[in-house]
Amino acid sequence: MAKILDGKFLRDKIIENLKNKVNSLKIKPGLAVVLIGDNPASQVYVKNKILACHKIGFYSEQILLSVKASKDEIFSHLERLNKSTKIHGILVQYPLPDYLSYLEKEINEFINPQKDVDCFNPINVGKMFLSKSNDEKIFFPCTPKGIITLLKHYQIDISGKKAVIVGRSNLVGKPAAFMLCNEGATVTVAHSKTKNLFEVASQADILVVAVGKKNFIKKEAVKKDAVVIDVGINRDGKNIYGDIDYNDVFEKPSYITPVPGGVGPMTIASLMENVFLGYEIQMR
Ligand code: NAP
Repeated sequence: MAKILDGKFLRDKIIENLKNKVNSLKIKPGLAVVLIGDNPASQVYVKNKILACHKIGFYSEQILLSVKASKDEIFSHLERLNKSTKIHGILVQYPLPDYLSYLEKEINEFINPQKDVDCFNPINVGKMFLSKSNDEKIFFPCTPKGIITLLKHYQIDISGKKAVIVGRSNLVGKPAAFMLCNEGATVTVAHSKTKNLFEVASQADILVVAVGKKNFIKKEAVKKDAVVIDVGINRDGKNIYGDIDYNDVFEKPSYITPVPGGVGPMTIASLMENVFLGYEIQMR
């Protein structure tokens, strides 16, 4: 029977730790979150990020722009935030409204790399590529960083393991593959064009699934005693489901992340760590 990798517990521990560090600081670390449009899931993510800032004692700003916001309006906010001495981390909540999606690349490149807590600026992506994943002076993308932190907290060996990542997005799959490889895993990345995907997944000692399809992975695709990390967030009515059919697979893995309560809280914890890192970089 699987042991639960408790992301909520570890998030709370990380938040407590940051709170203690921030307590004695005169100038507080600051995060600005820019939300364009009224996507309900994005509104929840932004609320949770701001709430975490409040718990720690970070300064925070929410910039809520209408779905009709112009390019000039968006970039003038980003320019102000890039220069603000109160703000040490900036994130634009994705996805952008469809008609603005062409701006994503330009936004990522415009955000000051020292404030790029999502690690989307190509300068930070390059630094990540050139660094060891335990380098504490550079930004790593929040979700993969949270996964590695969770594995390490539970003293799960990564080195020498066979890791399969299902999903190759720039947000999760690709950086997770890169970071696990840096930790010594032998990594396979599977995606929509992969042949015999479930058979590939069933060979993983560490299986990370970031596909965005409710209950996509069943027990046949899970190796006995594997460590199973479910990144998926799929809303169905009022409930949230992962990409892994938790009840179906539960008897097989040695460890599993629940949804909710696994990777999601760790993403927030990593974001808060990145804001603190941005502060340290800028206050040097
Ligand atoms: P994404 O950009 O849509 O990428 C999905 C990936 O899954 C793509 O690489 C796609 O392959 C692959 N895929 C889709 N259908 C597939 C299929 N039938 N078989 C095999 N591969 C398939 O999604 P994302 O941003 O990585 O997010 C993935 C999930 O994680 C979503 O549910 C999202 O909400 C969630 N998420 C959670 C957190 C968290 O903190 N817990 C953070 C970020 C994202 P192709 O590239 O070939 O199209």
